[in-house]
Order: sequence, then structure tokens, then C-alpha cells
Amino acid sequence: MDLWKKSVKELSQLISNKEVKPSEVVESFIKRKEDIEPKINSYVTDLYEKALEDAKIKDSQLSGMNDIPPLFGIPIAIKDNISTKGIKTTCSSKILENYVPPFNATVIEKLNNQGYIITGKTNLDEFAMGSSTENSAFFVTKNPWDLERVPGGSSGGSAACVGAGIVPASLGSDTGGSIRQPAAFCGVVGLKPTYGRVSRYGLVAFASSLDQIGPITRTVEDSAIILNVIAGKDERDSTSRDLPAVDFTHAIGKDIKGIKIGIPKEFFSEGLDPQIKEAVLSAAKQLEKEGAEIVEISLPTAKYAIEAYYIIAPSEASSNLARFDGVRYGYRAKDYKDLDDMYSKTRDEGFGAEVKRRIMLGTYSLSSGYYDAYYLKAQKVRTLIYQEFMKAFENVDVILTPTTPDVAFKIGEKSNDPIQMYLSDIFTVSINMATVPAISIPCGFKDNLPIGMQLIAKPFNEEILFTVGHYYERLNDFYKRFPDG
Ligand code: GLN
Repeated sequence: MDLWKKSVKELSQLISNKEVKPSEVVESFIKRKEDIEPKINSYVTDLYEKALEDAKIKDSQLSGMNDIPPLFGIPIAIKDNISTKGIKTTCSSKILENYVPPFNATVIEKLNNQGYIITGKTNLDEFAMGSSTENSAFFVTKNPWDLERVPGGSSGGSAACVGAGIVPASLGSDTGGSIRQPAAFCGVVGLKPTYGRVSRYGLVAFASSLDQIGPITRTVEDSAIILNVIAGKDERDSTSRDLPAVDFTHAIGKDIKGIKIGIPKEFFSEGLDPQIKEAVLSAAKQLEKEGAEIVEISLPTAKYAIEAYYIIAPSEASSNLARFDGVRYGYRAKDYKDLDDMYSKTRDEGFGAEVKRRIMLGTYSLSSGYYDAYYLKAQKVRTLIYQEFMKAFENVDVILTPTTPDVAFKIGEKSNDPIQMYLSDIFTVSINMATVPAISIPCGFKDNLPIGMQLIAKPFNEEILFTVGHYYERLNDFYKRFPDG
């Protein structure tokens, strides 16, 4: 039995029926990992050996257990900007290269309560700023479908390891597309939950009004299973919402008859690869045949999302990253004259070029002479984008778009051109600006490279994403394909 090919749901059933032990699951992933990880480099910290020890302890616990939590014994990889007690959390930055948090993020506590098994910390663009994982201070992660290409970013490591089949699921974070875009590039499912659905406590902040943690999985049902565990109000994150608990897996297997799917014409215009357009529109046709209603809609303000995002996100980042000063955390420059010199050398040596670019952009936009022209204006645009989405949802239940304008690009292709890099999030950033949930689901291939489509819903209506996404996934089976080892 190739356990590494199984979904979280399948593994969970095998474990709770006591047909398979957690150690057998981990061993199967270790075998696959030994072949593939040296080629793709998805982990900053590889914990598979520790995972096996952990699994053996779980083997012995299992025999005496009756109520077995869904994630008991399930291996999961964690993006390296999510705090893990006693395990390095580097944000793929030199400034945090040796930082070991003394506490767990809330999502990690919740996974621990289930008895999950951590397989390691995954590579990312430094502080989650980027779309290709090339901004990691350590190394570039490769796309498991084509080793000359990027896995996307910033959660590139978390998407590559699931895409490669060396772990069944991972956590990523999404500020402007960092879960969905790499999920699309690596042929897996990536969910950006509604802002406030999942606690951000312990997620190293990039842009606090946009950041959300979410699952990257092989199937839509697995996404629902993990969201069940990580969602919920947390006293330690005042932006997490207190809502009645829902079982998201109830949305799986429901019919889609009568569901109204909006197709925003602006997301299908020039700049979009014709094969991606065709793949997403044929998904819409398939869903229509199954009883959904397709409605053309317009989201004209969404085209300003990138511009506004690159004011708001860097502004928040410039403030959030002020704490890395050589005193409180991590790296400190060796030679300096006085305190000011220590701050500035530490930050100069510790941060990479993209992070510095964002800090400068953000500091500039927030400075008193420019605040009204940039930051305030961008906030107004953000409100308009939000209102436009809410208006669209008066007429449709869910919105369908491509996740990315193109498939995974070559390593180095965009790294010298920040604007081109920023544009790879053109279909994802407006979703963070509007705070709404969205999921990227595999919907085809172009020259053996995965294509992703994005489903978007009203705030706190992740259920409909799972219903429509799962329905589509079962019609097509793209999720059963793995890249060669
Ligand atoms: N690529 C976008 C950026 O560079 C989004 C990153 C993210 O979602 N963390 O900011």
C-alpha cells in the first residue's frame, strides 16, 4: 500500500480503524522524501527523524484509545513563519536564522491537541514577501513538476512538499496570494480562510490586516478537515471572530444545483494565458451541466488591488518589522559604534533586498507628507474593493476565476523585475483586500504544469467553497496525479 499517495482523510480512517500505525505512515513518507526532497528543497528544517520517533510513541498510545481525533498521527509540514516552541522559526531570513520561539502559535497548539506529527518547517520568501520562494535567504525551492521552475510563493515550500507527495498536508500563510498561488503552481488545494477565521497568534506578522493562516492539501475535503481544527476565536488574537463552531466537512458531498457562480469578466481579459482561460471556463461549463447557474459579473475596481496592496502591505510590514532591531530577537551585527549604528547595521546585514524595499516603500507611504496621498488613498481603494465584492455577492453565491495568469515560471525569470513578480498575484490580492475566503483547486495542466482555479465566497462562508470545490474535484480527478519521483 503506497501510504504516501493517500489523503489526510484516508490516512485518518486507516489509523482510527487501527489498520495502519502512525509509524507506518511516517515511514512511507520518509521513503518518498529521500528521493525527492534533495531535488526540491522544500524544508528549511527537516524533522522526519523526530517525526518517526513521535509516531512510534503514538503507535503505542493508539492501542488504548477510543476517540481518535481526525489528525492523530497525521504528518503535517509547517511554514517557517509560524512559531513552533523549541523548533527554529526563521521566516527564511538571516535575521531570524537561529531564532527558537519559546511558545507555539495557536494553530500549532490546536494541531498538537489532535496529536498531529510535525515533519518540518518549510521554506518561504523572506518574511512571506514574494511569489516564488526565490527571496528566501537560504535557498530556492524547486517546483516538483519541473525542477527548473519556481513552486510559487511565498508558501512555496509548503506547496512543493504536498505537491511532491512527501507529506499529505501543510500550513501556509496568505497575505496577498501566498497560499493559493503556490498551490496552483504545485497542483494542490490551497485555502485562504476569511480574515478572522483562524488565529494569527504566533504567525510572524507581515501585514496584519491581510495575513491569514490556511491549509495546503491534496483534496478539498482535507482542507475542510484541517480548517475544522485550526479555526476559531482566540483570546490572544483580537481580530479572530467569535462564531458558532461549524463542521466544515458537512459541506462535502452536497449538491450544487441552483448554486449561482459569478464569472467576473475582468479576470479573463488580456494577460491571461489562453490555456488557463480555457481550463477555468470549461470548469464553469462542467459545473453548469451539473446544475449550477453561471452568471457573468463585473468587478471593475479589482484591477486597482495590486497598486493599493503594495501601499498597504508594505506600510504594515514597515511597522511590524521594526521589532527586528538586534536587541529583541535573532541576529545582531558584530561591529558597531553605538546603538543607532547597531540597529542600522543589524537591519542592513539581516534583511534581504525585497524586505528592505518593502520597509522603504511602507515608511515612505506612512510619512506625514505622503500619508494622505498614498496610505489613505489605498485604504479608500480597499473599501471600494470590499464593497464591490459584497455587492457581487448579492447576486451570486460564489465567484470563479483563474488563480494565476500563468503557470509556474522559470527560476530567475522574474527575480530582477519586482513589478512582473508582483503581477503574478493579480487575481489573488483583491481577495485579501476584501477579507473574503478563497480556495485554489487544480483544474488542468499546461505542458505537464498544473493550472489552478480560484473559488471565492462571502466572508465566513467557506462551506460553499468546499461544496463546489469538492464537487468539481470528484468530476476530474486531477488530485490523483503526482509528479515523477
Ligand atoms: N506575493 C505577495 C507579496 O509579495 C503576497 C505574499 C503573501 O501572500 N504572503 O506580498
